[in-house]
Amino acid sequence: MNAPQLSDVQVPVPLAGALARRSRQGIVAWGDHRVTVGGDAPVRLQSMTNTDTADAVGTAIQVKELALAGSELVRITVNNDEAAKAVPYIREQLDRMGIHVPLVGDFHYNGHRLLTDHPACAEALSKYRINPGNVGRGDKGDRQFAQMVEIAARLDKAVRIGVNWGSLDQDLLARLMDENARRAQPWDLRQVMYEALITSALDSAAKAEAIGLNGNNIFLSCKVSSVQDLIAVYQSLAQRCDYALHLGLTEAGMGTKGAVASTAALAILLQQGIGDTIRVSLTPQPGEARTQEVLIAAEILQSLGLRAFVPSVTACPGCGRTTSTTFQVLAKQIDDYLRSSMPAWRERYPGVENMKVAVMGCIVNGPGESKHADIGISLPGTGEAPAAPVFIDGEKALTLRGTGIADEFQIIVENYIEKRFGTA
Ligand code: SF4
Repeated sequence: MNAPQLSDVQVPVPLAGALARRSRQGIVAWGDHRVTVGGDAPVRLQSMTNTDTADAVGTAIQVKELALAGSELVRITVNNDEAAKAVPYIREQLDRMGIHVPLVGDFHYNGHRLLTDHPACAEALSKYRINPGNVGRGDKGDRQFAQMVEIAARLDKAVRIGVNWGSLDQDLLARLMDENARRAQPWDLRQVMYEALITSALDSAAKAEAIGLNGNNIFLSCKVSSVQDLIAVYQSLAQRCDYALHLGLTEAGMGTKGAVASTAALAILLQQGIGDTIRVSLTPQPGEARTQEVLIAAEILQSLGLRAFVPSVTACPGCGRTTSTTFQVLAKQIDDYLRSSMPAWRERYPGVENMKVAVMGCIVNGPGESKHADIGISLPGTGEAPAAPVFIDGEKALTLRGTGIADEFQIIVENYIEKRFGTA
């Protein structure tokens, strides 16, 4: 057998990149603040408060925290008259604080009545989430769904038709089960469930358009709590419509498990171009900030290279070549510094979110990785000379020594940001 020639094997590896699913583009607006969703808009970050909405002050504070963390849409529960009455006050307080993030009202069971009885609430919200499984059954359910959609159409509000397998339309599921039983080769029950989720979303969207809602401002979601189910459902849903899709693993769980499960599911779909808004539905650990779900969602998009929110810090994991925790401490210090500074930097240093910083533990990969970053430091590993070369824009700029390396490096980073991204 002939050995392969160089020309046979030198085929360039395709460049990485998400496949494009182009959905319709809609707008979720509050006043002049308009958030485009779908089409060529970036994938948007969404979050949800866990305060009692009737507590207008507490809810406004949490919405502000979520917005400052990067959430571009914030959903709040609107479950009773007290909550509906509080919504305009929440909106007012946010506007007074200069937070113009659109509010999404989450309605179940009584949304038709709350939106009718509280016109100021209907006006203050920018988008309504309607769960077709929780609007009522039969003709009554149709009327109540129509009542909400008519209000949205009249006020030019966006609507998310948010189906959830925990509250699936039982009449629809029963009908599809019956149809399946009559098939010569019945589907797996899981496939029937998938079909029920998708049909519920698509049928409801068609009804909403027939009532008069602008189809561009209809977003769909079909949330389930298993990674494989979510991928299967969204791949099919994406093929069957061009509505913008909201993506999220429902009830993802706590801590590492919730973060990893959400990342696994969302990353696969986003890489296929599926998903126009995302939320990471994390159960907060006791004492954990609600903003954690926004940070993880942002990290998913940033890791995939779909968006940039904060300068990224590349740090090695450390190994037997590092006997001190110096580089771990420095990596964390720089990361905390960049993240905490970002809300103030967004306007002051446009483009800084694309910056890459490297904090490396030894000479093996330290200089190389630091050269790939905008600014990097290669700390000395065990047995190496106690010197930390700093690389700026790919060139070795200086070497730090002694006990003040961390603070000196931070000052160098600050100066670099001012010089490169400062607009003054
Ligand atoms: S850069 Fe050095 S310290 Fe860091 S993981 Fe690689 S070999 Fe270990």
